[in-house]
Amino acid sequence: MSQFKSDAESDQPESNVSDYCQRFLFSDADVRGEIVRLSRSYTDTVNNHAYPPAVRKLLGEFLAAAALLGSTIKYDGRLVLQVRGDGELTLIMSECTSEGALRGIARYQQVPQLHDFDALTGNGVLVITVDSRHADTYQGIVSLEGGSLAASLKTYFEQSEQLQSWFYFAADEQQVCGFMLQQLPSARFTDSDERAQSWEHLLALGQTITPTELHELSNEDLLHRLYHQEKVELFTPRAFHYQCSCSRERTARALISIGKDEVDSIVAEHGAVNIACEFCGTDYHFAAAEIDLLMQDRGELLH
Ligand SMILES: [Zn+2]
Repeated sequence: MSQFKSDAESDQPESNVSDYCQRFLFSDADVRGEIVRLSRSYTDTVNNHAYPPAVRKLLGEFLAAAALLGSTIKYDGRLVLQVRGDGELTLIMSECTSEGALRGIARYQQVPQLHDFDALTGNGVLVITVDSRHADTYQGIVSLEGGSLAASLKTYFEQSEQLQSWFYFAADEQQVCGFMLQQLPSARFTDSDERAQSWEHLLALGQTITPTELHELSNEDLLHRLYHQEKVELFTPRAFHYQCSCSRERTARALISIGKDEVDSIVAEHGAVNIACEFCGTDYHFAAAEIDLLMQDRGELLH
């Protein structure tokens, strides 16, 4: 495939990394793209929980979206995607750190019966939070519309960045894949009609993608299948992994923030406090004596 330039010649991502995003750029257009593939981080996230298949797949899409946005937006810290709605899910969220660590969770009171996006998420909004270590927290909000996470993300980028974007996700039980096209600021085209035509052309070709192609073709073959007449440059893939950010120290801080009276009453009843991480299931046990010490140091721990 002579039309592909690649700066990742030595390592084919498929052979050694199962979870990655790979950027591509059209040499003759102001358009870039990303392809994301998550398998281990996806199964590690969902396997701890008995999610119904539709919830499992939607959470997979949220993970893939967090990885895509994590590759698209520059930040140092944590990016969080979360729905605030009144659907069957009381919570669905995913996180991607700037180090490529992914985690996510879905919560519901009753096992969801309806399986489309609108029923699961309800009327509401998609909240995108970038929690930076060295900058103010950024929060973007877009209404959930178009019946999919992909459509909501498209609206988000149109509203916040004034850039045309298109997202496509396909999840099965073991792997979730995503595909993104996005306009770049004008560089190749100064004429707005030409710029729009170029975008429409690349979009129309991209929209012929099928779930099977996205899952089964290598990135090179997929881009060749969609864009064999275009010059496409593929960049080095960026790896992602599942990692929960919980720790004993954070859990201790959460414990003392509950308040002394409540903690004392739990200890009086159970002799200790057990807190399980909702994301990964890790159980943190705090004995009564340790809780006494924590409560003495609470001022220091909370700041
Ligand atoms: Zn955890």
